[in-house]
Formats: sequence, structure tokens, C-alpha cells
Amino acid sequence: MSQTPLDVLRSVYGYKSFVGLQEGVINHVTGGGDALVFMPTGGGKSLCYQIPAMIRQGVGVIVSPLIALMRDQVGALTRNGARAACLNSSLSTSEAWEVERRLGRGELDLLYVAPERIMMPGFMSVLERLDIALFAIDEAHCVSQWGHDFRPEYLQLAVLKEKFPQIPRIALTATADGPTRADILTRLHFQDARIFSAGFDRPNIRYIVVPKNRGREQLLEFIENEHKGDSGIVYRMSRKKVEETCQWLNAKGIESLPYHAGLDKRSRDASQDAFMRKEGLVMVATVAFGMGVDKPDVRFVAHLDPPKSLEAYHQETGRAGRDGLPADAWMSFGMGDMMVMRKIIAPDGDAAGRKRIELQKFNALTGFCEAISCRRQILLGYFGETHEPCGNCDLCLNPVETVDGTVAAQMALSCVFRTGQRFGAAHLINVLIGKHTKPVLQWGHDEVSTFGIGQEHSINQWRGLYRQLIADGSLEIDPEGFGSLRLTQRAWEILKGGRTFAMRLESEPEKKERTRKRERRERKPKTGWAGEFLQTPEETRLFDVLRDLRRKLAEEEGAPPYQVFQDKTLLGMALLKPRTEEDLLAVTGVGQSKLEKYGALFLEALAAQYDEHGRGEPRAVPGEEKVEAEVRKKAERGETARKTLELFHALGSVEAVAAERALTPHTIYSHLIQAVGKGELAVTDVFPLAPDAIRRVEKTLASFKTRGITALKPVFEALEGAFDYEVIRCVQSGMWARGKKAVKRG
Ligand SMILES: [Zn+2]
Repeated sequence: MSQTPLDVLRSVYGYKSFVGLQEGVINHVTGGGDALVFMPTGGGKSLCYQIPAMIRQGVGVIVSPLIALMRDQVGALTRNGARAACLNSSLSTSEAWEVERRLGRGELDLLYVAPERIMMPGFMSVLERLDIALFAIDEAHCVSQWGHDFRPEYLQLAVLKEKFPQIPRIALTATADGPTRADILTRLHFQDARIFSAGFDRPNIRYIVVPKNRGREQLLEFIENEHKGDSGIVYRMSRKKVEETCQWLNAKGIESLPYHAGLDKRSRDASQDAFMRKEGLVMVATVAFGMGVDKPDVRFVAHLDPPKSLEAYHQETGRAGRDGLPADAWMSFGMGDMMVMRKIIAPDGDAAGRKRIELQKFNALTGFCEAISCRRQILLGYFGETHEPCGNCDLCLNPVETVDGTVAAQMALSCVFRTGQRFGAAHLINVLIGKHTKPVLQWGHDEVSTFGIGQEHSINQWRGLYRQLIADGSLEIDPEGFGSLRLTQRAWEILKGGRTFAMRLESEPEKKERTRKRERRERKPKTGWAGEFLQTPEETRLFDVLRDLRRKLAEEEGAPPYQVFQDKTLLGMALLKPRTEEDLLAVTGVGQSKLEKYGALFLEALAAQYDEHGRGEPRAVPGEEKVEAEVRKKAERGETARKTLELFHALGSVEAVAAERALTPHTIYSHLIQAVGKGELAVTDVFPLAPDAIRRVEKTLASFKTRGITALKPVFEALEGAFDYEVIRCVQSGMWARGKKAVKRG
């Protein structure tokens, strides 16, 4: 086996280094060991079996429950030059036959199959005749009846251990609470496997919860200010709300599609397909949408209705930012949401324990929403992990102010008590601020001792305080669903002066929205999330050009744009500003196969921009400086330019070298110009120019440079088109080489 995992990572995927647990898992499985892998979505799970499957002898068989996911992964692998296929019910007989033929001939490194297929007797005997590299069981939590994704066929997969005892197996999942873990271990017979467990943290996701005042307007503002033109998911609780929100967003100019279980399968598939393939589409969905959606560039997940629990929240928001770039998990949450959630909790007298567990989950979620310190700490704490304040949630970025609110809390609680524990927050607040509403007069609540005692705080402040008291467990919502509030034991601790209460100061919504909008407008240009990284107009322009080219190529191939290159790769190009294939290989996500397929096109598009507007300073994507520097150094010593130079010495003409290497003349020239810049060739070796012609170009270049202009277009125009861009670039490289020498001598 000549290839190491790192070789495969770089040449096939174009990634420069492993992240997290990947390397450990890959080495263990490549060495023949069984592994059970818990990794959050977006942690790079699939590489953990794909790379060992490509390195080990034979075909890797991957069991996956979702056809869409299989298709997507096989598409991405094939595009990277890997030998992959899938077998499932969506194939025609002849297509399936073709896959089996390739399988029989040993022409596949990866085969994705549905769980029911692998258990068919006929298919099992096919497997027994083959060389098998490994078995991978994806979405392994489907074996557990605890979760909502239970698939009975998964139970039979335990048989793989008996039938193929010598073949390594790897099971993977992102869902990993205690009972599910135990189920995977025992039901799939993974007792001897090594367990790899990554934490639950998704550092690139920013958590934001805003108090709900005008739900969908808040959502619209969030999308327009932060995510114009980005892909995102909006979760709603019911089919009706999905349809409403979707129509409303479309009317407001945000292109959206609906997804819920009430739509027929064809429309659901069409929605999902469009979401995968198009850029900048918003999916408005119930939780029916999500599993198996492995789109890397979802930039936000928004909850307009609350999730069922913090587990569900973690899973649903985990669909954002799988490419590791910044993404937002945004939620608008209010008192009404608390009422709705409380309503669906099991009634008293239900199966023992269920009510208690559901109440715990409710408390955990409201605690998260009403937090006054780092949300990530609370979320991870729920999964048993500790974390520093993260610096990437709304509460870390804009800390809330708290004051001693013991007296205010006593007023709020005592108002509940004085009015008989039968009313909701809206009525209680009217009493506190002394409003003579009809119900207040009808119930005689203008006579109670708490009437009008709370005028020093706004309605908004009281609303926030009541939510805080519910999250704190001092108040509970009536289980009948009328929305009335009742005191608990904890409330009496405050009322009797045994406990103080820190009250969060609520910001007044209108004012806050306006300042935030202004800040955003100043901070961010039109490129949405990428605006944070793109520092100059040149970089923004490069990024837009790259996106257009990607869109065009994706359309031609009928593939999702991210399968051509992910956002992260385009960003890397816009910042690193590659000129040569070596430069391009240093960008994350550019491997050998994609270099050959797309490299020349992207380099040409970039070169045209450099010529017209200047190149600007190359720099690495923040956070990847070290990796890129290392790769670049290696690349500079690299093979391809060296090969071109050797052949050029031997053959003497650019056309001959281009033909020999099956590269475009454009690429060969770029290699040679690079060699001129290093002083390995003279300008006249590449272009037969007379000395006075060279002087003329040099003089023009110098005159623009002293004026601070680095773009080549003005130089080209000043020379009246007498010299090609490539000639000008070559002369420029010659000047650099002389300059470097002069510095060394000096
Ligand atoms: Zn935080």
C-alpha cells in the first residue's frame, strides 16, 4: 500500500490536513480494527470510512438509509475522481446490472447500499465472493428504538459480524445520547470496537435567540440584514405555518420553498432537490425535513417555532455550516411558545416517568432561551460537556445587563398570587402597570394590592421577567393549556426573601432593531457571510467572478454548485489569488482530479481579473495560515512547474510542451513566467523580444507602479495593445527576479 491517508486526503479531496478525530479513526480502520464513531454533523464523518475504503484492498460497502444522501455522496466522490457507485431502488434494472458488473470486476472502491438490499440472500452471496475492504454503517442510531429514526432493517446488520468476522466495520452517528449508544453497541455487536467520540461543539455556529415580538418580521430582518442570498432553513411547527411563512417570504422577495409531510412525495423531492442544487434558496419546513440533507453551505437555520428539546435543537441547527464557515442558528422565542410547548407535555397519570422527563426537557430549553450568560456553555452543559464562554453567541457578543431584580420578581409573583393563580402574563402585566382593561375591571383586579405598583418598568421588561421566572422554575404554566401561571416552591423562596433574583434588562425592540440594522449596513457589503473575509473591492470582485463561473459549470453538469467547489474553496481562491496550478493546489478543496477538470478555467478567469484590476496581496483564509504556508512551500518546490521547465529545455517550444503534457499553452506560459520570476529563465527564453521592446514594457510598468497602480490593464492600454498580457506579465516577472537579486547582493 503505497498511499497514506494524508496522500489520499490531499490528492482526492484537496484538503490539506485532517480535523478532529478523523486521522485516529482512519488509521484504526485502515489497520483492520472495528470503530464506533460519534461525531457531530459537519465534523467530516464520511472521510472516516471513505479513505480506508480507498486504501484497503477491495470494495468498501457503506450501508446508508437515505437514497438522496447516497446519490449526493456518490456524485461528490465521482467528481473527485474516486470509483464509487450506489445500489438502491431508484436505479433501473440495467443501471443496477451495470453497477454489479463493475463490482464483480473489482472496478469499485466504494459501494453505497440500502440496508434492505444488503440483507437480500442473492446480494449476500455476491458479497461473499468479493474482496471487501470494510463495512460502514452510516446513521447507526437507526438501530435504536429510542430515537425517531428507527429502521427495523438495521437490526439485521449484526449478521455482518458473523458472516465476515475478519472485515473491519465502522458505525457512525451524530446522535449519541446514552440509550442510543448502548443500543448501537449491543444490537450491532460492536462490543469489541474502539469508540471515538467527538464533542458536541460546533464552534462555527453562532447561537442567537431574540425575544419574539413580531415573529416573521424579525425573521425577514434577520435574513435581509445577515443572509441576503444565502441558503437557509426555517423551521415551523405545522404544515399551515410552513405554507404561510413560505408564501410571505416569497412575497417579500426571499425565494423560498415549502416542505412538510402533507405534500405529496413528488413535490417534497422537487423541493429538496432544488434546495440542494440552487444557491440562495430558503427552505421553510417542519422537522420532517432534515435527515439526510448533507448540504455543506447552509448558512443559517432559523426557528420561528421552538424545537422539541435541546437535543432536537442541536440536531436541527447542526445542519448549518457543515463546511466549517460561519453560520447562524437563530431563534425567535416568546411567552406564547412556552405555552404551546407546555401543552404537549404528557398529562398527569401518564406512563410513569414520561412526564418528568418531558418537563425536564422543557425546562432545559426554556433555560437556554432565557439565559443571561453564554448559550454554548448551557447547550454543551446539557450534553455533559464543559466549555469556556465562547465568544460566538449573542450573549457573549452583546452581554446582557442584569440588575438585582428581587423586588420586581416579588411584585410579579405576588401579582400571580393576589389574582388567584388563574391568569396569563398579559393580564398580570396589565394589573402591575395599572391598566383599566375590561378584564381587569370585570375581575375587580383594580382593587388588589399589586394594582399599579409596577409602573417603573415597561411592558416589555415585565414580559421578559415573567419568561425568566418560568425558565427559573419559579412559575409553572398550567398543563391544561390556558396559559395561566402558578407559583412553585421556588417562588416562595423569593417571596419570603430567602433568595435574590438577577433580572435581565430587556432592550426595547424598535430602538434595538434600528441600531443593529445600521451597524450591519456599515459592516457588511452585499456578499452576505463572505463579507467578513473579503477585505478589498478586488477580493469581493474575485469572489463574485468565481461564484458566477461555478454556477455556470454546475448548470452545465446538472450538479449542485458545491460539488464543483465549496464556498470555502472559492473563498480560498479569492484570498490566495492563485496564478499557477501549484498555487491552486494550495487552496483547500482543490485536489488532483478537480485541478485537471476545472483548474485552467478558474485560473484563466482569475488572470483576466488580475490583468484588469490588479492582483492585490495574496493571503490565507484566516485560521488556515499555517497549513497553507506549509503546502505552498511544498508546492513551490513542486513537480509540475519543474516538469514543464525540463520539457521546455528539451523541446524548446511552448506548443510542444503543452501537447506533451496535455495542458493548455496558457498553463505552460504561467509555469514559464513563474520560472522567469525565480531567475531560472530569461524573458527572452520565453518570448523572442528585442531589447528595446523589453525596455519599453519595463518603463511603462515602472511608471504605473510609481503611481501605485498594479493592474495590468492600464499598462496594456498604454502600450496600445502591442504586447499580450502574457508578455507583460513575463517582463514584470523578469523585473522581480532582478529586484530580488539586487536585494540579495545588497
Ligand atoms: Zn457564548
